[in-house]
Amino acid sequence: MPKPATSLVINLPMTALSGVGDALAGRLKELGIHRIFDMLMHLPRDYEDRSRLVPIRDVEHGMSVLVSGVVTHVETNRTGMSVAIEDDTGVLVLRFFKTYAALKNTMVLGANITAFGEIKVSRYGVQMAHPEYHITGTKAFESGLLPIYPAVKGLHQNKIRQLVRLAINAVSHETLHCLTPLQLQNVGIHDIQSDILTALKQIHLPDKDADIFAQTALLEGLKERTHPACRRLIIEELVAHQLAFLYRRNNVYQYKAPRCQDSSPLAQKLLANLPFDLTQAQKRVIGDAVADMATSKPMLRLIQGDVGAGKTLVAALTACHALDSGWQVAVMAPTEILAEQHFINFQKWFAPLGVGVGFLAGKQTAKERAAMLDDIVANEVQVVVGTHALFQDGVVFAKLGLVIIDEQHRFGVEQRLRLANKGVANSTPHQLAMTATPIPRTLAMSMYGDMDVSVIDELPPNRTPITTVTISRDRRDEVIERIFANCKEGKQAYWVCPLVEESSVLDAQSAELLYEDLCERLDINIGLVHGKMKPADKQAVMNEFKLGNIDLLVATTVIEVGVDVPNASLMVIENAERLGLSQLHQLRGRVGRGSAKSFCVLLYQTPLSPTGIERLNVLRDSTDGFVIAQKDLELRGAGELLGKRQTGDMGYYLADIVRDEVLLATAQNIAHQLINDASQQQLAQQIVNTWLPDVKEYVNA
Ligand code: ADP
Ligand code: MG
Repeated sequence: MPKPATSLVINLPMTALSGVGDALAGRLKELGIHRIFDMLMHLPRDYEDRSRLVPIRDVEHGMSVLVSGVVTHVETNRTGMSVAIEDDTGVLVLRFFKTYAALKNTMVLGANITAFGEIKVSRYGVQMAHPEYHITGTKAFESGLLPIYPAVKGLHQNKIRQLVRLAINAVSHETLHCLTPLQLQNVGIHDIQSDILTALKQIHLPDKDADIFAQTALLEGLKERTHPACRRLIIEELVAHQLAFLYRRNNVYQYKAPRCQDSSPLAQKLLANLPFDLTQAQKRVIGDAVADMATSKPMLRLIQGDVGAGKTLVAALTACHALDSGWQVAVMAPTEILAEQHFINFQKWFAPLGVGVGFLAGKQTAKERAAMLDDIVANEVQVVVGTHALFQDGVVFAKLGLVIIDEQHRFGVEQRLRLANKGVANSTPHQLAMTATPIPRTLAMSMYGDMDVSVIDELPPNRTPITTVTISRDRRDEVIERIFANCKEGKQAYWVCPLVEESSVLDAQSAELLYEDLCERLDINIGLVHGKMKPADKQAVMNEFKLGNIDLLVATTVIEVGVDVPNASLMVIENAERLGLSQLHQLRGRVGRGSAKSFCVLLYQTPLSPTGIERLNVLRDSTDGFVIAQKDLELRGAGELLGKRQTGDMGYYLADIVRDEVLLATAQNIAHQLINDASQQQLAQQIVNTWLPDVKEYVNA
């Protein structure tokens, strides 16, 4: 059966359009334009208004305007030619950086000139640099509003406009499937009636005859994405993404997962060996997961919990239920440092109970890896901890029943799903994901729409709050003295710097230089870890720190996630103003894990802007990850909070999950309605194929 996804015009490559060869297609790829639909969704970043003559008095810096006037002054010199034109309201200088015959012949005193270009206001006055021009009345400029597109070198506006028109002509209502106005009305959306092709035409080919009000509304509404045509596209896109989640979820649900027992003697023993009790929140969340696993419907659960909430233990105790039922457990972490640390913890917890724990990471030798793979397939190890090395093809589990993914936000959806394929034939393992990025509910819905969510909303009781102070770099020497004195008393400290190598551009303190500098100045044991080191070397340093043989650990943000050294109670973060709030919060979460009073020093470079100060104060005043994430979201937007990778993975053309939050629940409703209605199946598939063709394998499954 031919796949519908590829037969749609919108999914054809750009080379399918006449006149588009490989070279042009290559340029377009730089703009992320691969298939015809991408071209349609390459929306203008602005419009030029060539329909309206603007009185010179009214022009402002940055405007692209049409003006008309009489030449009153012409000056030619080495750098080109300046022509003053004057209308009833003022004078404007047209600047040309090249002179040529046609220009000289046109720009003569007394000539009536019409010009179009961008206004620059500088100390040279009000100017328009190399405008398009002609003698007034001899011809007209192309049209009213002209879209201006994001472009790359070698690809001109006119070419892009032409390609967009070709793309629009190539599709029709029959090939561009979308929700009907009635379907939108049914969920209470009345103001946007059109289909998406009409919406795209409104955006790309604005009506030439539209009056000034309609044009102004379009200009602004498109920039802010509030125009009904934009909202029409956004709602469709959100629906497509929610549908994709549902398809992925249903795709998992068509398999059975191993039923695990809901009481676990192993968990009892593990708990009995711990020096503390679980928090209520930990118990509740473990209960959620255990209830999921007691059925043959695969668990798809995300556990959110602030830094230090004790997620690792939740993972281990949940694992016990699978282990007791005879199943293997895979635990995946995003970095080797974190994977190794989990390995150590799991071994400490499980080895005494007779459970074999294995480790799989990129740094292993071929021999070690082969031996480990043998153990995994022979069920000699029941818990396997590792990095993404876990889901590579050669890894075959004997009886994988549960997959645990730590710091889920570091992985893409696809990576998580790949581990899900490693279960026994015709079944799939349960999935438990964990994240410390405390994101608001709606955001979670748009990122993990296919998972159920549990929240650990409580920290273990033995924590002493972390005192956070912001200090200017001018007082760095004092900070060094304090750290030194504390280390001498047996405390351990992190010193974090944001960049590995000296960068004159960013003026960030390099970890290496800092390390050398501190070694020279301080008579204590100092270690260094950064991302460019070999994994084994990194690990060796981390171990020494954990054992207490290193007093002060100079590190880059590689220690951001998961690292757990309870005795470390001091942290200095250099150039804190450059890092995001949530990232700072994660980093700070490395201290305050033991019973010692903890301090975090945010060193900032002066001068710092008022917002910069406000940002750091958020951190000084709160240790609640949710509060901080919300602030971060307000101050920097979703892309920064969640990381380029996550938001990039979400792959939205124009929806913005923060700005369009209000539409999200509606989109989810529509998606549910479509997928539950047999007569809408085809439309639902077409919508996903249109917006997210890569998801088609789940749709067709
Ligand atoms: P995170 O949620 O950030 O992954 P961890 O799992 O690393 O947190 O736990 C942080 C520390 O808290 C660890 O040293 C862990 O042993 C300890 N811990 C976990 N649960 C409890 C608890 N209920 N009471 C006391 N300490 C706990
Ligand atoms: Mg953790």
